[in-house]
Amino acid sequence: MRTNYKDDFPLLKNSTAGGKPLVYLDNAATTQKPAQVIEAVKEYYEQYNANPHRGAYPLSEKATEVYEAAREKAAEFIGADSPEEIVFTKGTTESLNLVASSYGLDNIREGDEILISIEEHHSNLIPWQAVAKTRNARLRYLYTDENGKLPLEEISAKINARTKIVAVTQVSNVLGIVNPLGEIVRRAREVGAVVVLDAAQSIPHMPVDVRALDVDFLAFSGHKLYAPTGIGVLYGKKEHLRKMQPLLFGGGMVDDVSEQDATFAEGPSKFEGGTQNVEGAVGLHAAIDYLEGIGYERIGQIESELTQYALTRFHSIPHVTVYGKESGNNRAGIISFNIDGAHPHDVSTILSADNVAIRSGHHCAHPLMRHMGVNATCRVSLCFYNTRDDIDILIESICKVREVLGLELK
Ligand code: PMP
Repeated sequence: MRTNYKDDFPLLKNSTAGGKPLVYLDNAATTQKPAQVIEAVKEYYEQYNANPHRGAYPLSEKATEVYEAAREKAAEFIGADSPEEIVFTKGTTESLNLVASSYGLDNIREGDEILISIEEHHSNLIPWQAVAKTRNARLRYLYTDENGKLPLEEISAKINARTKIVAVTQVSNVLGIVNPLGEIVRRAREVGAVVVLDAAQSIPHMPVDVRALDVDFLAFSGHKLYAPTGIGVLYGKKEHLRKMQPLLFGGGMVDDVSEQDATFAEGPSKFEGGTQNVEGAVGLHAAIDYLEGIGYERIGQIESELTQYALTRFHSIPHVTVYGKESGNNRAGIISFNIDGAHPHDVSTILSADNVAIRSGHHCAHPLMRHMGVNATCRVSLCFYNTRDDIDILIESICKVREVLGLELK
């Protein structure tokens, strides 16, 4: 069985600093790209670059064909009923803003409740604040417990007859913990609320099937899924997309335009005003093919074993606090931690001297940081191309931090 996937990723193979190999552990921010994706994008520019859905000549037809083939692939990948339910966007942020503006503003009334969790990334939080403020609605939160989990009682208590939208992340980008989505959807269905799922941190690590999950909307970013930046997906049930107004007006999204009025295209084109990111769609298609070639089963096996190994090593070092208590099986490979007496930015700077790349800061989750009572954390996020050697180098580097900062070692 194949164990080392780094060879597929040119940047990982070629990147050394001062003779030290790159240990890339910031995959929750963005993933590296396999040669297959880079090649697919290169081929697009070398062989069939044109504006899709515009020209009646072979190149434009080919561009249309690859763009729409990517839509079909994305639909099949997440188990959508049809490609008509896939809107291409810039990424998760744009997808969530589109739902909030086009669905939220039209369906939320004064006194209604929108429910999100305290773990949300700002992109699944600020758009709902805006809707709540504009419509005089109430934005409520599901709070995590001291272990970083969403208690089931929170879910049954907070979802009530006034709840119209429940927008949650499947996996926290800070704690890595997988949320009890089944329970959230079940309760939302009981009260007739719409469920919006932020799958940015789940889809790189586990199969996500919109029919099985029974969500109304789902958002993810290509760049966290080994695809290029600037491409993302908004899945929406057809019955919702059909009724929603476009967010961007311009070329490619209309049926007819008169001097004073316009009618809009049917299907996802309605939300895709302007020239689209064909390169990104082609890269996303190649990334999904690449991932399917490995398979989620294998990805899950590697990542949960590696996460468990990393957690065990973390728990063995003094002066380190790991946030969120879950084993490697019920969390994606995201581990947030702090070292006593060391600012997270200092930690990541010290680690980077060993060519170890991690993230430090608030991770675009200010409310969660406040809820946890911290200003910032260090975050390690791994994926299937990482190895035990990467974790060993990371831990060795972490063990040096207090010494470098002149702090007591025991
Ligand atoms: N949601 C979550 C859970 C995320 O981790 C991120 C990216 N950090 C986003 C949304 C936003 O994704 P993007 O910046 O690609 O739009």
